[in-house]
Amino acid sequence: RNTLMWFRTDLRLQDNKALYEASMRSKVGARHLIALYIISEDEWKEHDEAPIKIDFWMRNLTSLKKDLDRLAIPLVTKTAKDIADIPTLVEQVVKEMDISHVFWNADLMIDEQRRDAAVKKSLMKLPGVAVEECNCECIVDPADIKTKTGNPYSVFTPYYNNWCKLVETEQHYLELTGPPEANPPEAKDIFADIFKTVPSGSYPHSLDIKMVNELYPAGEDAAHERLKSFLQSKVKKYREARDVPVQDGTSLMSPYLTSGVVTTRQCVAIARAANNNKIVSGDEGIKAWIRELGWKEFYKNILISFPRVCMGRAFQPKTEKVQWSDNMEHFQRWCEDKTGFPIVDAGMRQLNATGYMHNRLRMITACFLVKDLLIDWRLGERYFMNSLIDGDLANNNGGWQWSASTGTDAQPYFRVFNPLLQSQRFDPKGSYIRKWVPELRGLNDKQIHDPSHILHPKDFAKLGYPKPIVDHAVAKKKYVDEFKRILAL
Ligand code: FAD
Repeated sequence: RNTLMWFRTDLRLQDNKALYEASMRSKVGARHLIALYIISEDEWKEHDEAPIKIDFWMRNLTSLKKDLDRLAIPLVTKTAKDIADIPTLVEQVVKEMDISHVFWNADLMIDEQRRDAAVKKSLMKLPGVAVEECNCECIVDPADIKTKTGNPYSVFTPYYNNWCKLVETEQHYLELTGPPEANPPEAKDIFADIFKTVPSGSYPHSLDIKMVNELYPAGEDAAHERLKSFLQSKVKKYREARDVPVQDGTSLMSPYLTSGVVTTRQCVAIARAANNNKIVSGDEGIKAWIRELGWKEFYKNILISFPRVCMGRAFQPKTEKVQWSDNMEHFQRWCEDKTGFPIVDAGMRQLNATGYMHNRLRMITACFLVKDLLIDWRLGERYFMNSLIDGDLANNNGGWQWSASTGTDAQPYFRVFNPLLQSQRFDPKGSYIRKWVPELRGLNDKQIHDPSHILHPKDFAKLGYPKPIVDHAVAKKKYVDEFKRILAL
């Protein structure tokens, strides 16, 4: 009987534990390895997945199919109309393809765990069918990393120090799993019909397709090419350049990491190899980059250890009492990049035009929505998720709760980014603003950060750019007062 590998957000051949185990299993006892992918728009909608991210998945799926074809592993794709249909769909494939063992990589999010439990339950009813769930998502499993009192960490620095100690001293954490073995060549004839079917290849979205495909080419090879080139050159200046939005100073690996085209483990292992097998000493750029990957591990650890954050709840329950503003016009102006604060609008335009936003801008725009407009961070979190090619529940939620001062290890509530100072500090020549806000291109380096206050009203009116929708000092006071009120309750 055959073996089935169910791909989800792990669209790769390398360092894919479930895929490797499935191929070993088919070698020992079974006949052939078959791959499955389920297109589940209902589930994606429920999770606010952005069309551009779904498109990226579909393009990577097409690339994965080509890689699987070379190994004579057929890829079956099925479409689920409803999340509830998934168990029946998997069961049908198992019956039709005469499967004895089903493999997948455990998904650590709540909804996905529920889905997988339902699939497991229905498969266990079938005679002679076994399910193997592999643990592949985190480098250090949350169960292996606890504080001295045995609790999960909720502060990044001590978590990261312990994480580094474990990863540096215990070899197995960075051991990479090899690719699957090929099926015998006759599989191509036996499953000829399946080999002919090709996943649709793209998914409709409103962004410029050519630009998106060039910025984020699909496939494992493209991802590794990007990683290699980053580690050969850009990483040297990463520590300084990562905070300068106009520079192309970061890796842009996030879409590949989020969609599982590469793993955090691969990134850390390859970066460490380029740094004499060290992660806490040696090259400053590599150390700084691995630390950012450490944040990704940290936020995953938080989501798993405190599942309430998956369900739209604040990490700090007290902050649930904040009286958020219901000014939806303000929210709309933020979404539509028309707040009148050039640095905020520039960030939102990068997001709206490309499906990506630089990390510094994610912090500035998030802080602005929550602390200048007093709008519930959950609305911003959702808007980001609906727009980002790298939308990731753990990182997005972590970033938003940090910015809103409601999360673990959050920015203190009284520290409110001043958009003008952030703009002058991180975009001193206004180059990032000029790139994304063409109305302001003709202004000098001083005017560009604050045109409504520096220019004569008549000159400002000619720009066709909106006036600031709030006064930052007034807004900040309102927000800080509200936080003081709830913390005193
Ligand atoms: P690099 O600087 O090259 O970093 C390498 C990798 O480290 C990233 O790809 C990412 O996986 C990880 N990383 C970097 N910074 C962070 C961070 N602050 N927190 C967690 N992981 C990090 N990241 C996402 O992947 N998906 C999101 O949906 C997301 N939403 C965010 C929302 C807000 C409000 C904030 C403040 C941050 C968010 N981030 C998110 C984190 C960060 O902005 C992106 O990971 C980063 O900009 C991706 O670009 P890069 O791959 O070039 O990063």
